[in-house]
Amino acid sequence: MKIAIIGAGIAGFSAGQALAKKGHEVHVFEKSRGVGGRMATRYSDESAEHRFDHGIGFFSVQSEAFAKQVDHWSAKDLVKHWGEHAYRLGSEDQKIPFLETLSSSQRASKQWFTSTQGMNRLGKEMSRMVHVHPNAHVSGLTFYGGDAHEQKKKKPWLINFRDSNMVEADAVIVATPAPQAYGILNTCHDEVDTYKIIREIDVVKYLPTFTVMALVDSSKTVPWSTLLMDSPTLQLISNESVKHDYRVGGGEEEPIRFVLHSTHKAAEKAVNTINREIVWPQLQAQLLKEASYILGDWIQHPLWSQSHAWRYAECENPLKVPYLTNGRKEAPLAVVGDYFQGSSVEDAYLSGIACAENELFNS
Ligand SMILES: Cc1cc2nc3c(=O)[nH]c(=O)nc-3n(C[C@H](O)[C@H](O)[C@H](O)COP(=O)(O)OP(=O)(O)OC[C@H]3O[C@@H](n4cnc5c(N)ncnc54)[C@H](O)[C@@H]3O)c2cc1C
Repeated sequence: MKIAIIGAGIAGFSAGQALAKKGHEVHVFEKSRGVGGRMATRYSDESAEHRFDHGIGFFSVQSEAFAKQVDHWSAKDLVKHWGEHAYRLGSEDQKIPFLETLSSSQRASKQWFTSTQGMNRLGKEMSRMVHVHPNAHVSGLTFYGGDAHEQKKKKPWLINFRDSNMVEADAVIVATPAPQAYGILNTCHDEVDTYKIIREIDVVKYLPTFTVMALVDSSKTVPWSTLLMDSPTLQLISNESVKHDYRVGGGEEEPIRFVLHSTHKAAEKAVNTINREIVWPQLQAQLLKEASYILGDWIQHPLWSQSHAWRYAECENPLKVPYLTNGRKEAPLAVVGDYFQGSSVEDAYLSGIACAENELFNS
């Protein structure tokens, strides 16, 4: 079966890997230049010296299936344990070890990891068994339910791209956040079974995050990897320099890299504004100022800085099933992602795996 997966995040790749192992021809179409989705990494300059994981910074592992995938990354030195030097900022600025702030049951079942070579490397690693097509922005789907398909002249699905390209497929899996999946599926909503999926995912809501990346000079070290806090604007500061096992740039006087994540509330105006040129720098300055109360004035004067607004950082109301399908053996269509049964990278991974096991993909 030729299967088209839309979205090169962990959900698309976990489904893609499993389906390729079943012997299918899997094509992953991604609108961006790179893979990984919200497992994202950005560099401060073209020489790729200074790396920032500006999306997800660390993750937990609970299920056996995801632990197996993480073991595989671990064997390739792509991840390492996280949490030892992570703290939650309590009242009166006391730093409580993050893992101690979890309940004992959470601590018993969870292991925490971060990337050593950039979060997007995990996506690249998962892409090996599938055909990846970057810069391929899907604009919609066409269903060939009529004679042409029945006479075996055409495959049941046509994937349409923004640049007017088209690709046929036997099956489609949409592996994007729910609102983006809604936009894609809405182009073929007159199909009864597609309409049912659209109605279910229409209720899913996401919370945004605004992220600032800042490069400062090498003297500004701090003795922690991550600081989480409860403040109206700033949610987390990540010290990227201690995260990675080795320094990609080499040299002795490496600048230090910080990632700051805003609270969901503070990010709302950044994702909803039509005046990005004004609102983003203001929010960036506000976050750096708030960070300066913890780090020192120097964080307000970085050597380099950039910001990014994540419209879909955390799913607010996940659906209670692992994935959805149209149930049609002759023209399978499914949706997967982190909005099924949770809102984490592990939930996205498990959604893709579960979908690939559906009997629709058995032939
Ligand atoms: C700032 C931030 C912090 C986070 N922190 C954590 C955390 O601490 N722990 C945790 O577990 N999770 C965290 N997450 C969430 C985690 O990153 C996601 O749950 C997970 O990566 C989602 O994977 P996915 O494959 O479902 O979606 P994505 O990674 O979003 O992948 C979807 C892909 O689809 C592509 N796409 C969309 N529309 C189209 C189209 N029309 N055509 C082609 N391609 C398209 C997108 O470009 C994207 O690459 C965080 C996320 C953010 C942004």
